[in-house]
Amino acid sequence: MKQEIGKKRIIIAIDGPAASGKSTTARRLARQLGYTYIDTGAMYRSVTLKALQKGVLEDVRRSPESVSALLDDITISFDGDLVFLDGRDVTAEIRDNRVSREVSFISSLKPVRERLREMQQELGRQRAVVMDGRDIGTVVFPDAELKIFLVAEPRERAKRRYAELLAKGGELPDIDLLEDEIKERDRADAEREHAPLKKHPEAVEIDTSELTIERQVEMVYNLALEIEKGSR
Ligand code: C5P
Repeated sequence: MKQEIGKKRIIIAIDGPAASGKSTTARRLARQLGYTYIDTGAMYRSVTLKALQKGVLEDVRRSPESVSALLDDITISFDGDLVFLDGRDVTAEIRDNRVSREVSFISSLKPVRERLREMQQELGRQRAVVMDGRDIGTVVFPDAELKIFLVAEPRERAKRRYAELLAKGGELPDIDLLEDEIKERDRADAEREHAPLKKHPEAVEIDTSELTIERQVEMVYNLALEIEKGSR
């Protein structure tokens, strides 16, 4: 099911709270449509990792404008499912708990949002991308042909995160704690001043709490085909 010549190439924006199924849906959908998948959460996580590695997080907390120094020469790139920060594979590291705990702070800062928004718009210039995040349909590509907003009950999302951690091996947090962390990250992402998490009025909202991953991908895939064919 690769992209056929002559078909309309579109941008698909998938937004929603943490662990609502965005990245799994977006990745599979991109594969089925022959599009490129771009995980913008990985980009915010990469900037956060860079702040932690350089040991400047506390400085940035004290004077937020100092975050600009981190952005001057940063490069973030993707190769399939791999994420590279300044040329180094950071795919596993950006999923660390310490990164998850600090990412909402770093992503609330205006210089970070502006820089990453430019990078994301550049990545989508040729269309044929599926991009997931918090502000893709509202800020990065408000003219995306298809905008999806995925939601799911917090408990269900905590269970999914738990299952992911279980599959990876390593230390397992308490599920109630996971649920609290997820809710806290959603609150921070929704209440921030710049590009908060919110549904674009035109976005199609899908509650994935009771859906299988196959079903949720199929729903978005069918919408994308209708738009590619010009019937929606
Ligand atoms: O999608 P993921 O959970 O990996 O995103 C990590 C964090 O990055 C989010 O909680 C949010 O703070 C930030 N983010 C954002 N805007 C995006 C994507 C992610 O602010 N477009």
